[in-house]
Amino acid sequence: MASLFTKILKGEIPGEIVHEDELCFALKDIDPKAPVHLLIIPKKEIQSIAHSEKEDQATLGHLFLVAKKLAHGLGLDSEGYRLVTNIGENGGQSVPHLHVHLLGGRPMG
Ligand code: 5GP
Repeated sequence: MASLFTKILKGEIPGEIVHEDELCFALKDIDPKAPVHLLIIPKKEIQSIAHSEKEDQATLGHLFLVAKKLAHGLGLDSEGYRLVTNIGENGGQSVPHLHVHLLGGRPMG
């Protein structure tokens, strides 16, 4: 079954997609923890970094380059921002489809 994020990408569930390319897409978080809170998500349904394989190397690198580009476009370079990916239960992961959080617009604790 498709993941929540894949359903959003396909338009089956509403969501605000702000970027899409051949490998990934970026979505505004429904419950933002900062003025900017995006999720950068591979189209391939990798569950988490713990489930990634050597063949995913280019995709994983791409997620961070897209995050950098989006942050730059949002004017976050000078003040900085946070990129984080949660893994499993203790990591606080609630959606089992790998995603990188891009958080910015306020100081992070
Ligand atoms: P995690 O806890 O897995 O690291 O992050 C999952 C994120 O997905 C959370 O920040 C949560 O707010 C966000 N989220 C959960 N459901 C939805 C949804 O239906 N739409 C959007 N845009 N974000 C969601």
